[in-house]
Amino acid sequence: MLLLNPGRPGRDAYLRLPTYLAVASLLSPALGYQELSDPSLRRIPGGGSDFDITTGSLLAPILVPRVPGSAGSAAVQHHFVDFFRQQLPEWTIEWQNSTSKTPATGDQEIPFHNLILRREPPWAKRGDVGYLTLAAHYDSLFEPVGFIGAIDSAAPCAMLMHVARSIEGGLARKWAAMEEAGDGGLGLEEERGVQILLLDGEEAWVTWTATDSIYGSRALAAHWDTDVYPESSEHRSPIEAIKLFLLIDLLGSPDPTVPSYFRPTHWFYQQMAKVERRMRKLNLLASKPEGVFLPDSGEEPEKPYMGYIADDHVPFMVRGVPILHIIPTPFPKLWHTMDDNGEHLDPAAVDDWAKILTAFAAEWMELDGHLPSAHDAEDTIEHTEL
Ligand SMILES: [Zn+2]
Repeated sequence: MLLLNPGRPGRDAYLRLPTYLAVASLLSPALGYQELSDPSLRRIPGGGSDFDITTGSLLAPILVPRVPGSAGSAAVQHHFVDFFRQQLPEWTIEWQNSTSKTPATGDQEIPFHNLILRREPPWAKRGDVGYLTLAAHYDSLFEPVGFIGAIDSAAPCAMLMHVARSIEGGLARKWAAMEEAGDGGLGLEEERGVQILLLDGEEAWVTWTATDSIYGSRALAAHWDTDVYPESSEHRSPIEAIKLFLLIDLLGSPDPTVPSYFRPTHWFYQQMAKVERRMRKLNLLASKPEGVFLPDSGEEPEKPYMGYIADDHVPFMVRGVPILHIIPTPFPKLWHTMDDNGEHLDPAAVDDWAKILTAFAAEWMELDGHLPSAHDAEDTIEHTEL
């Protein structure tokens, strides 16, 4: 992704923003959202050794070069699919594929494969579900050769895998209880689901331009805009079914500062910041940032009204989708250098982000009272081992 200066191509998109924002801002506060109680927050698991950079079952397999169309990219795709097939069979797996030429590869058509993982109430029809949409890109830079991209965005992808497995128990319990009570599918409230987008082709192959960047998300957003649901559906298209597009990027370095970028989703930003503050107070997070993100001093977090970052959210944003972009400003110093590798990740930051994102997703899906305890988790493990 690229921080744009005024006058760069993305500036036009920035200037067009207010129309979309005005529409979106009417929506966000009206959405249901339920804060987790302290006991529920304590149930939010960390990734622990699964985020180990050499042996971790979630993160280690992603810490390889993942240039679109390469063997490394295919291996990482298998890793994602195997994880969801084996550990989260209730989640549907969908690919959205496209090809494009790039300025670095001449006439060759490079394949881009976006992976969409989705979970919705068992009774719900696709077109009736509004989705919390969690996104990160999994491709890595074409050059420098051997570039890993640990914060960009291997670690964020691993965090989203962790979110999925950590909310699955709560979702299953909540929906089973609703079905038992006869509440499922009555249309009493909006149907809510979660989808995770692992996007390909975010990086520019030569230099960031409108056509040499975000290949995967441009293709996906265009497809979802025209792929309309049946007329009787609650939503017109998959684009309209995105209730919040939460894009994470460049996470995993120590002491990030993540400002709020968009007014329509500022309320969600504040909720996520509140999750972080509460988890710190409960001593549930390991990192000890100094005066960043949300200092606990009564001091307000930085909230610039200006500033615009071109990334995978843009093709969705210009279609009116509410965006919450969780990306540090300034970018970590090792951004797009060979130093962006596993060794330079801050394990505490990786795990803390995974917890914060999990808790936010659990609040958005209103899972308070439904999250399994650590004790339940042990029971499950014992059960599966039998
Ligand atoms: Zn990058």
